[in-house]
Amino acid sequence: MSLEKVQSDFYDSTSLISPILETIESAKIQANRNQDRIKLIAVSKNVESNKILDVIKSGHRDFGENRVQETLSKWPDICKKHPDIKLHLIGPLQTNKVRDAVSIFNTIHSLDRRKLAEVLAKEFDRTGNRLECFVQVNIGEESQKTGISPNQTNEFVKFCINEHKIPVIGLMCIPPADKDPGPYFAFLFEIAKKNKLAELSMGMSRDYQTAISFGATQVRVGSAIFVSRNK
Ligand SMILES: *Cc1c(COP(=O)(O)O)cnc(C)c1O
Repeated sequence: MSLEKVQSDFYDSTSLISPILETIESAKIQANRNQDRIKLIAVSKNVESNKILDVIKSGHRDFGENRVQETLSKWPDICKKHPDIKLHLIGPLQTNKVRDAVSIFNTIHSLDRRKLAEVLAKEFDRTGNRLECFVQVNIGEESQKTGISPNQTNEFVKFCINEHKIPVIGLMCIPPADKDPGPYFAFLFEIAKKNKLAELSMGMSRDYQTAISFGATQVRVGSAIFVSRNK
């Protein structure tokens, strides 16, 4: 391996996350949200452990995964060494994976149907481990996407909180891929406000700055961190 290659790898590993943190800071200033705390969730799906460890070394602690199985195979060892890591489930959750999910994740961003709420609540009761949850809203009402439809969200949030004592802290969405995301983020903000929910999980690599300007409190960024930009 040439010295040049070694140096560029070293440079890469120390700066994976800092450009994103800087962009978040400038987006906050532009949106007049200097005082707000915005959580960056580093989405590490399909990313191998070495790269994840580089980001952990730089001090980052919040990570997102979209599959329970992959999370169980990658994270238990890392979490043993770094017990302050917080794992966020951002992908769809099948009810037969609830027990595993509750055993490894800290937050669930994809609570999207009654059956799942019921099974989660049972597991929370059984373990005493009540994970904070986001209700996922199918904000563009797309048939291929999961999530509760916007006009059923109020009722579903009440169902989760009142009937099942699920700690719902906010709403999550993924806007339609081919449209301007701004109006969808604004819509999610309105629904959250109506339901007195403080947290908004919205914004990915291509639109997290826009999401911040519309009130995001947690952004889920994967490829902008982990996919090499200097190739
Ligand atoms: C993969 C994924 C992300 C991150 O997407 P990038 O475009 O890589 O930033 C965010 N949210 C969800 C739900 C995802 O599945």
